Parts: sequence; C-alpha cells; structure tokens
Amino acid sequence: MSQWNPAKGLRIAIDGPSGSGKGTIAVMVGEALGLAVMDTGLLYRFLGWRANDLGVDLDDESAVVAVIDNAVADMDWRAEGIFFENRDCTPLLRGEDVGACASKVAAIPSVRKQLLELQRKIAASGCVMDGRDIGTVVLPDAEAKFFLTASPRERARRRWEQLQQGGEEVALDQIVDDLKARDARDSGRDCSPLERAKDAIEIDSTTMRIDEVVDRILAVLERRKLIS
Ligand code: C5P
Repeated sequence: MSQWNPAKGLRIAIDGPSGSGKGTIAVMVGEALGLAVMDTGLLYRFLGWRANDLGVDLDDESAVVAVIDNAVADMDWRAEGIFFENRDCTPLLRGEDVGACASKVAAIPSVRKQLLELQRKIAASGCVMDGRDIGTVVLPDAEAKFFLTASPRERARRRWEQLQQGGEEVALDQIVDDLKARDARDSGRDCSPLERAKDAIEIDSTTMRIDEVVDRILAVLERRKLIS
C-alpha cells in the first residue's frame, strides 16, 4: 500500500542522460506512488540487441529498418521487463555493449516511430516513464516532467558501480569514453534528441543522495496537488 494517493492517470516523465540516476529514481518514485514504471531505454536496448544478434550492421540504416518490424513483434514487454521467446532478457539488455547498440538504432526515425504508440499506450493509465524524449516527444502533455543531470565523471562512476554489481568488469576510463560517445549520439541526432522539455524541472544530482532526489520530486508533485 503506497503512502501517497496520485491523481488519476498521473503521468510523470523523467528524462536525462545515461548515469543521471533516472532509472533508479523512476523505480523509487513509482514505488512511493504505487504507479507502474516504464524504462523506455529497455525497448531500444532490445531492438539494438536483436538487430545485432541477427548479424545486421547497425550503421546501415536500411538493413536495421528491414528487421525492425519483426523485432518489435518479437518483443514482449511486461511490467517485470522485456521477454523474448518466453525468457526474461532484461539482465542481458542492461550490458554496456547493448547500450551502444541501442543508441545506434535509436537514432533511426522509423525505429522511434515504431515505439511511440506503444509507449503512449503503456503510459495512458498512469505511470512513471523514464527515457530521453519522454517530456518532449512521447508525453509532451505529461502532468509532471523532470530532467535529471549529473557531472559526466559522476555518471560514469555510477554506471561503473552498476556494471560491477551486475558482474561486468569494465574499466572506468572505458565507461567515460562510452558515455561521451553515447551522449554525443543521443544529443546530436536529428530525431528526438536528448533535451530538456521547456516545462521540465531540472535536478542536478551530482552531489545528492538518491532519496534526496526522490523527496524533491515528491515535494514538487505534492505542491502541484498531483499527489495527496
Ligand atoms: O536509458 P538507457 O541507457 O537504457 O538507454 C539506452 C539507449 O536507448 C540510450 O543511449 C538512447 O540512445 C536510447 N533511448 C532513446 N530514447 C529513450 C530511451 C532510450 O533514444 N526514450
């Protein structure tokens, strides 16, 4: 039983770059409010992973587009994660190499279009949704929007810690380089780049604890009477 009562159909958009803490924060806000949480990065991760697994050159846009319809049909999104052939492939999708595949396919407009309606449908009954373009493109009319940031070094450190916990050994410098490349691709693409929606509240979490960020978000929602 959650301690808060969210407004009916409340949709909260949380965007930010890799390692900004948005995934963890989205889960905690969702738990506090009893709302479904959707990590939209997983959708792009699945498509990147699947196309790569099929041997497609991810820099070849038309080759990716050729397999995307089937890949979307194969993807089984559930509240617990992404399933493929009845197996939960979420842990596999969280790997560092899959993130790079995801950001390549995510730059392709028709891939984004394929996922747009799916994301909106999932969000319709209320949710906390995290990604890169939720406040700008997917849910421009979301009741509340937040944009999380943190310094690149701190984001890399968090990502490193997360990978270590998942048993993946990657050097910190390698993560810094990957993060920079992914930031550049995500912010520089023409279609739905990573950017703060004009009406999103920006929170720099570099020196904040996770619970402080969550508390700040809940305080905003309470002040706006979106939760009681
Ligand atoms: O958030 P996460 O790191 O799991 O996302 C993986 C990649 O998926 C990102 O680097 C980005 O390219 C892409 N993505 C996106 N739009 C979203 C969510 C993720 O382009 N809404």
